[in-house]
Amino acid sequence: MHLSVLIPCYNEEKVLKTTYQEIIKNIPKHCTYELLFIDDGSKDKTAEILKTLAHEDCHVKYIIFSRNFGKESSMLAGLSYVTGEAVIIMDADLQHPPQLFEQMITYYKQGYDQVIARRTRTGDKAHKTFLARQYYKVVNKLTDVKMQDGVGDFRLLSRKAIQAILALPEYNRFSKGLFSWIGFKQKIVDYENQERVAGETKWSLKKLLNYGIQGILSFNDKPLRICFQLGLMCISVSFIYILWTFFEILLHGVSVGGYFTTISSILVIGGIQLLSIGVLGEYIGKIYYEVKKRPHFLIDESNIDKAQDKNNEEEK
Ligand code: UDP
Ligand code: MG
Repeated sequence: MHLSVLIPCYNEEKVLKTTYQEIIKNIPKHCTYELLFIDDGSKDKTAEILKTLAHEDCHVKYIIFSRNFGKESSMLAGLSYVTGEAVIIMDADLQHPPQLFEQMITYYKQGYDQVIARRTRTGDKAHKTFLARQYYKVVNKLTDVKMQDGVGDFRLLSRKAIQAILALPEYNRFSKGLFSWIGFKQKIVDYENQERVAGETKWSLKKLLNYGIQGILSFNDKPLRICFQLGLMCISVSFIYILWTFFEILLHGVSVGGYFTTISSILVIGGIQLLSIGVLGEYIGKIYYEVKKRPHFLIDESNIDKAQDKNNEEEK
């Protein structure tokens, strides 16, 4: 069996060599393999290390981006250029233990197209765990695809699954959702949460929050419908209130006052309007990026001929 391992890297000079050695150690003996590292515009020595590794070991392939395009783009690039009959996607920081390879491949051979590694949350901060749980509850209510807590990008994909992912050309990629959307036979493998071996995480709270919103908005138009429903609710409540006030006036005449009701209705309706415009704006923003049809990534350098050729073509 020919296996590809895809590793997106962004400023990972501190761990890269260890990661490489760990991967090599854990690839089952009966597999031929390639390791495809994507350097996502790192500002440290990641690219140099990759080139040295490739020089020493012909199994190592690399693609170097012209700048940082994000992990989603790295994965997409990787999936387009892997040659294996199956690919395992994993992080460069060893938070995804290569010790699972053997088990994943066994399941693949049993006919599963996606073998998904799911981490426990041991060692995570309590508030993070809590937020994540609540988030998944909301997401699963709001979107059509089912997403699971602890399930990330660490997984094995069969050729069929890779082809399916590549057939989704959208610009705003939320791979957790995409992987779930394509379906196919899936098997979950659990593993203990691992701390990053070295270097630091690229996820700030703000980035996480944006990623979360992206997750909710990329999969359907339910949020738009909620705005619609909020609007309907507002109208019904105001209608009842207007009728009630009208009869009050008929019975008792006009009594000035109503400061509280005026202020609160302005605030509530204003809030709902802003929220709805925000949601609308998010979708328009997404459409804006989709219609531009810009490439997901630009390759600066690679030791894969096909990638290099495509790059030269684009330069001409
Ligand atoms: N990564 C990437 N491009 C980016 C940010 C991250 O390719 O813009 C890679 C990074 O090198 C790592 C993986 O994505 O291999 C996961 O990133 P990180 O460990 O920072 O995320 P966390 O594990 O903290 O969620
Ligand atoms: Mg990590």
